[in-house]
Amino acid sequence: MATVAGIPVHGDHWIGGERVGSPTTFDDHSPIDQTLLAQVARGGAAEVDAAVGAAHAAFPAWAATSRAERARLLHAIADGVEARLEDLAIVETTDNGALLRSHLRGVMPRVAHNFRFFADWLLELGHEDFETRGHTNHVSWDPAGVCALITPWNAPLMLATWKIAPALAAGNTVVLKPAEWTPLTASLLADITAEAGLPAGVFNVVQGYGAEAGAALVADPRVRRISFTGSVPTARTIASAAAANLTPLSLELGGKSPLIVFADADLDLAVNLAVEQYDNAGQVCLAGTRLLVEESVAEEFTARFVERATALKQGDPRDLSTDLGPNIHPRHLERIDGFVQRALEAGAKAVIGGGPNTDLGGQYYRPTLITGAAEGSEILTEEVFGPVLTLQTFTGEQQAVEMANGTRFGLAATLITGDQERAERVSAQLVAGTVWVNCFFVRDLKAPFGGSRESGVGREGGTWSFDFYCDVKNTVSAP
Ligand code: NAD
Repeated sequence: MATVAGIPVHGDHWIGGERVGSPTTFDDHSPIDQTLLAQVARGGAAEVDAAVGAAHAAFPAWAATSRAERARLLHAIADGVEARLEDLAIVETTDNGALLRSHLRGVMPRVAHNFRFFADWLLELGHEDFETRGHTNHVSWDPAGVCALITPWNAPLMLATWKIAPALAAGNTVVLKPAEWTPLTASLLADITAEAGLPAGVFNVVQGYGAEAGAALVADPRVRRISFTGSVPTARTIASAAAANLTPLSLELGGKSPLIVFADADLDLAVNLAVEQYDNAGQVCLAGTRLLVEESVAEEFTARFVERATALKQGDPRDLSTDLGPNIHPRHLERIDGFVQRALEAGAKAVIGGGPNTDLGGQYYRPTLITGAAEGSEILTEEVFGPVLTLQTFTGEQQAVEMANGTRFGLAATLITGDQERAERVSAQLVAGTVWVNCFFVRDLKAPFGGSRESGVGREGGTWSFDFYCDVKNTVSAP
């Protein structure tokens, strides 16, 4: 058992309602100052076999539990999250470096809401009966079985519970494999589910590396759903494993989203929304990292953006006045800097930033704005996943749409304009799972969420989540 800021956190797996270790462990360090936080059980085939076995054994009873009882238990988990909100926030910030301010005010309340929302949605689900020549069609959402949930490090508990809550609500059992760089809040969640009274085996956590624990989990034929959030290369590997067992899967992947500023936009709003793209040190899949600005306002936009961005306070994410924390890992920082240095060598310019913040040591990358990158170059087409934005100019709507759609991704797009008709025309042409008009990051859990092109396969959210986590059945009865 480790302690993080005085809070006890298990480094072991959570399998069948018990803490289970592994013969070997891996070290979990804080991105804030590289301190060793915990030695975490390094799961592999044996632990996955045990966890899937426990989930498989627990499935029939959980699937037969009434909707009302499942909803009650999910609300009890939400109560537990709220009761431990500060612990969860400080452990998450210490483990992944995202702002404590955001965890306290936005993220952890949202974690609780994930459980409450899907509990309530479950109770509303299923009034789809209709008639065909006097026969009744009754549509039901039947639980599918064991769900393998695999999540990344950039918003660990938020992204995990966005999957766990609907999967459990639907009557499935779960094996979660958290990211190896951020294993800790999943472990606290296991404690919370046990305290809430969730039956043993319904929720399990296997810690470990993707190529070991993750690979074993997605290859297990007893798994009936795989929901993965992470990178495109890993998604390809997981999809191949899923193909062997024809396991249905949902993939929420990366992006290279545009933020389009038309000349008729409220420039204060445009600058605010553009600076927001540095949130979480740029480690947000939905971030509008490509600023596309109409030529006639580009100079003024850039000057105002630079003024705002250079005023951001970078530092320890536990300090509530900090705006920009560290990046997750030394390897990740190197990757970010690699993209930037290659762009600069190829002739692009860093208007601000352009390297790590050496004053802070550790893993802090200066908020960076790149201009003058060549069309089609790496910095304009590959996901950097750091506080690095690019700026390109356009003239006219058609060019804006062509540039916005000019990547192999299609996760999100933001457009800022004072013209409602233009907003509708442009939104209709954008290839993206979510389009925000004059706003950013407004997300209702009942809305469909996912990506087009290489940004994903499938949609989750509201009924879309139940469609994915269930075997949807139609029963046709004669009069
Ligand atoms: P990653 O693909 O490296 O890892 C994600 C998870 O997959 C981790 O838990 C990892 O251990 C596991 N994994 C790795 N190899 C595996 C394998 N062979 N089999 C099974 N599991 C395996 O991604 P990351 O670096 O942790 O996350 C960053 C990426 O996630 C970015 O591309 C980002 O855009 C994306 N992301 C997408 C969304 C979304 O909703 N679309 C949200 C957040 C992050």
